[in-house]
Amino acid sequence: MKKTKIVCSIGPSTQNWESFKGIVDAGMNVARINFSHATMEERKIDEDLVERANKELGANIAILYDTKGPDLRTCDFENNYIELVAGAKIRIVEEDVLGTKDVISFNYKGILKDVSVGTAILLDDGFYKLVVEDIDEDGQGVTCKICNGGTIKSKRGVCIPGIKLDVPYVSEQDKKDIQYACDHDGDYLAISFVNSADDIREVRELCSQYGKPNMPIISKIETQYAMDNLDEIIDETDIVMIARGDLGIETGVENLPLYQQMMIDKCRERGKRVIMATQMMSSMKSNIRPTNAEVTDVANAVLAGCDAVMTSDETTIGKYPVETIQNMAEICKKVESYYKYDNQYGYNKKDINSIIAHSVVTASNELSSKLIVAATMSGHTAASISNLRPNAMILATVPNEKVAKALALNYGVYSKVVGEYGSTDELVEDGKKQAQEFMNLTHDDKIIITGGFPNTGVKTTNFMKIEEL
Ligand code: PEP
Repeated sequence: MKKTKIVCSIGPSTQNWESFKGIVDAGMNVARINFSHATMEERKIDEDLVERANKELGANIAILYDTKGPDLRTCDFENNYIELVAGAKIRIVEEDVLGTKDVISFNYKGILKDVSVGTAILLDDGFYKLVVEDIDEDGQGVTCKICNGGTIKSKRGVCIPGIKLDVPYVSEQDKKDIQYACDHDGDYLAISFVNSADDIREVRELCSQYGKPNMPIISKIETQYAMDNLDEIIDETDIVMIARGDLGIETGVENLPLYQQMMIDKCRERGKRVIMATQMMSSMKSNIRPTNAEVTDVANAVLAGCDAVMTSDETTIGKYPVETIQNMAEICKKVESYYKYDNQYGYNKKDINSIIAHSVVTASNELSSKLIVAATMSGHTAASISNLRPNAMILATVPNEKVAKALALNYGVYSKVVGEYGSTDELVEDGKKQAQEFMNLTHDDKIIITGGFPNTGVKTTNFMKIEEL
């Protein structure tokens, strides 16, 4: 089994049982449903597939709902696309239009007031560049030069580096989608274009209003503003997603390698989970094999300390979703089998839970134990151990499916739902039994069992026991 978790964006390519079963068998841990694209009908198909996989295959796939966020997009175009001609002029106007090769508009109003002559406007993941050449006197339109030509479809993303949309963080559409995620008991909620800790607090408040105060929130870092406020965002969020697609366009791709390592380090220091996202296996949208650079990118994400790696359109609309996940899982396993983390990240020397986690990992590594069993009510014990990256796998024995899914993004953690224990002895005995069912352990193998008893809720870890089988 691999330790690095895989978040698989699901969509048309996986909306049949054969493909879905294929990606589950290949190693998907979390299914991402992107509200920017998934219609109500598609969401239902995706959710039914997850439910079927969990029931029929005994899988433990968690659902991650991803909001659209305040993202700037082009209008609809005549025939659903337009042809951009290099060197030609195109107008962008405030008024809503059906776009043609001569004039287009955006989904948010008021953005044109912030541009000046020379401002670059990037369309469709930055593939097309326009440069503002003239601004109408009444501010209702600008004329741009098209720098490079090609076909662009309706509703593509727009990025104007350095310019922030002056709109409330949570749109009416996002509000509905957040409510949908809460009503459908989503396991994670990813929020797009987060710029500050206040944005996260606003979403948390909404989740509370919709009955899910503990919804784990994944902040997608995709703007320079988010990078400028990174510390406060990481402190406030549960999980970080390195959303390289938009981040690279907005901040310049040359900044990505350092920015992504900075995010990983800061998350690990604070015990927050981190997902590497976007263009990991892009070429597999149409090819059956990844490129060497993609293989290295996935491997480097593991080496750098990510909890999870993510696929995007290679699995939503690509030709080879199953092969994509198979390749990703194989790369992760290979790297994990060789690379040993050396407790690179600190622990809190004043916190009992943290000290026990550190002792568990130290003992496990020194004894070359194959498995750590963490009996955990809230998931916290297993999460603290995971953050210290032991060489052994971690089996979390948990009270219910919800806690199991809450651990679906933690590096090296697999969960098993068990009953309540009446004593420490019972917990240890059952821990040994669960360990043997979980993996092939032979005579002389050592396992570490840890947990808290009596368990009164969070952070009650109070013992570790080393067992020789
Ligand atoms: C990204 O921009 O990298 C990203 C993950 O966001 P989305 O797929 O929602 O555009």
